[in-house]
Amino acid sequence: MEKNKGKMSQSKKIFVGLILGLIFGIVLHSFVPDSHLKNDILIDGIFYTIGQLFIRLMQMLVVPLVFFSIADGCRNLGDTETLGKIGIRIVIFYMFTTALAIFIALSLASVIGPGKGMNMSLGDQSFESVDTDISLSDTILDFIPTNPIEALATGNMIQIIIFAVLVGLLIATMEDRLITLGNIVTEMNDLMMGMTMWVMKLAPIGVFFLITRTFSSLGYDAIISMLSYMGAVLGSLAVQLLIVYMLLIVIFVRVNPFKFLKKFAPVMTFGFSTASSSATVPIHIQTLDDMGVDKKISSFTIPLGATINMDGTAIMQGVAVIFIANAYGIDLTASDFMTVILTATIASVGTAGIPSVGLITLSMVLESVGLPVEGIAIIMGIDRILDMARTTVNLTGDAAGTMIVANSVGAFNKEKFNRE
Ligand code: ASP
Repeated sequence: MEKNKGKMSQSKKIFVGLILGLIFGIVLHSFVPDSHLKNDILIDGIFYTIGQLFIRLMQMLVVPLVFFSIADGCRNLGDTETLGKIGIRIVIFYMFTTALAIFIALSLASVIGPGKGMNMSLGDQSFESVDTDISLSDTILDFIPTNPIEALATGNMIQIIIFAVLVGLLIATMEDRLITLGNIVTEMNDLMMGMTMWVMKLAPIGVFFLITRTFSSLGYDAIISMLSYMGAVLGSLAVQLLIVYMLLIVIFVRVNPFKFLKKFAPVMTFGFSTASSSATVPIHIQTLDDMGVDKKISSFTIPLGATINMDGTAIMQGVAVIFIANAYGIDLTASDFMTVILTATIASVGTAGIPSVGLITLSMVLESVGLPVEGIAIIMGIDRILDMARTTVNLTGDAAGTMIVANSVGAFNKEKFNRE
């Protein structure tokens, strides 16, 4: 990355884009009076359009990249045994860290006590425990696409992953008959990776426009009144990111956590700016490759993580449960806490990696312990900023798991990681 000494590295440029966007957005919000020029032409015109153009460029890459990189990865992997081993390990890691994340969130929020004294009333409504069983059979059935083309067209990640795995494995087993197809898959994968690198060059500019717009239109007044809730969410996110993941990386991979954070910073910045794990998949795989993680592993575990592993989202949901219970003066029992850990882990699997979806799946968690779903309205106003922060944690969780699993099957190049 840092070939030319005098030049700024790409990750620094992205970070500078973020900081400039923050400053510019806050200045625009606080010091420039509202006007047609500011609101309609600048913020909702130029900044919105350029930011969205960039997000769309990223989204454009996701489906073809995921499909071809998984197919190519499985083709190179060639055997179902290794694939099964990776699959089981990564799923266990993802589930375990999600449950731990909610536990941290519930503990910290219980200490901080966000929402206490808000005295929201339930009125006359009674909240019967609403139907909480998420049909297991439907969830399982939905893994298999009845029409793979539809799965690709609608971007159904799990279905795409399953179909791509089969395509890759069969190309490997029928190698002598599918030479051309095998080459096409590899070349398409190279093409999509090349396109990702190209789009990544635009990242500093994209990040600047996205962040400026967000911070120029944020409701700062709402933030003040929600400080304890935000503090509990951000505090738990920090514990998960800086303590849990870093410890796991040190224990299982034995690498320097500061180096990890430094090298991983572009993905975090990008996730923070877009609030979308899905849109970040291409940049994520590319960055992990620079960090020594074999694409054979990351092309499989990263899109999977962007779909089912949302530790940051689970943290927000854990804190929101405590906040809403406090605000409405409802006591939660120990068994309610267990229920929340379970449902929020499942909700994390069901949360798509796009902005705000965590708020929607929160309703499922609230219902599971009979809390009023209306409570979501209170936290909605300030959710954007938390969405950005939790997406960053969601992504770091995917990366930590990927690195640990890659290391366990000899697909992590420590020397490359340590290289400047
Ligand atoms: N925005 C989050 C993500 O993409 C999901 C959420 O919590 O809303 O990872």
